[in-house]
Amino acid sequence: MEQWVGEALASPFEGRLKSPLPPLLWDLMVLIFIACLPSLCYERTDETLSGVEPEMVETIQIRTSVKTDLIDITRSVEEAVRKSGLMDGICWVYVPHTTAAVTINENADPSVSSDILMELNKIVPFQDRYQHAEGNSPAHIKASLIGSSVTVFVESGRLVLGTWQGIFFCEFDGPRNRQVFVKVLKREL
Ligand code: ZN
Repeated sequence: MEQWVGEALASPFEGRLKSPLPPLLWDLMVLIFIACLPSLCYERTDETLSGVEPEMVETIQIRTSVKTDLIDITRSVEEAVRKSGLMDGICWVYVPHTTAAVTINENADPSVSSDILMELNKIVPFQDRYQHAEGNSPAHIKASLIGSSVTVFVESGRLVLGTWQGIFFCEFDGPRNRQVFVKVLKREL
């Protein structure tokens, strides 16, 4: 018996064999450790994410010429991404206005843009019992319906868009001078 204990102390399980804890309590502690493993993994994921750095914002200047319009800004966003030097990562396109928006949709047939505007104007008519004193509530409502940002993946320095997709700046209260912010996020290798 003494010899068996001696061999056991040299084994990887020596802690368990010489532990003063009852076997059941020891098993319970092992179970708790296993249950905690996911949270340990989560911490490691956080460490990995620390290698992700946000890059500077590029600004696209737009002068709109009519009351409502969808303007294809895909090329300008691509240029902003090129300037940032991003090869692989994520690009955000953000509109810092309350009466304008940004969306992704077909840019092959211009009728799609005009149809979107036509139907938006039906959903949110120019005239109604709006309370907003500035008189541009329809533009505010359309801006909220469409949204103020889109996210696009970037691979090999190019925007990952579908064959027919383009990025559109949506003017709902023009003509005005507008801005679009483009920010990229890349993983440092
Ligand atoms: Zn307003």
